[in-house]
Amino acid sequence: MTPPTPETTTAAASASEAPSIVQTGAPVLRAPAREVTPAELATPEFAALVTRMIETMRAAPGVGLAAPQIGVPLRVIVLEDRDELISRLTDTERTERERVPFAPRVFVNPVLTPIGDETATFFEGCLSVDGFAGLVERHLEVEVRGLDEHGTPQTWRVRGWPARILQHEVDHIDGTLYIDRMLTRSFSTVDHARERFAGQPIAEIRRALGL
Ligand code: ZN
Repeated sequence: MTPPTPETTTAAASASEAPSIVQTGAPVLRAPAREVTPAELATPEFAALVTRMIETMRAAPGVGLAAPQIGVPLRVIVLEDRDELISRLTDTERTERERVPFAPRVFVNPVLTPIGDETATFFEGCLSVDGFAGLVERHLEVEVRGLDEHGTPQTWRVRGWPARILQHEVDHIDGTLYIDRMLTRSFSTVDHARERFAGQPIAEIRRALGL
């Protein structure tokens, strides 16, 4: 997942040395990925995959990446949010989104459960739908269970922006993209979304779009 639109920079310029990210239309983004086996988890190849995913996410820059996005059909996701990215937001945007920095997390074979009925709607983008963004309604709080990169079981209950990233990335390993869930009237280039809506509260954005 890319940082949400208004503060996204021209990602392509800084991504020149990163492995290429598979773009929408490729079959690997539309098929359910398969689980990682315990034997696979213990291999150097798996450790290298995780390293490559984190490097690719950072170089993009993005706040999350799923293995199918680098052409690997496995149920592995990585996510991280950094001060450097968050500092591009206004205070209002940061507070509305409940966006907080967190260290890199790796989930292998994640299973996601929504907590409660609250939802939130914001722009999000995807490294595999490069240059575009759309409003997506997501659960405000979720719990994810899975293994870490060493095979140790872990559970993370979280709300706000990290919960959105988790939902976006777990969708990827089921072959779902945010464009399947977005409010289609909001679909926009990153540049247009930034020009029109940077710094505006979500209620005003919805009004402007007739949503
Ligand atoms: Zn994505």
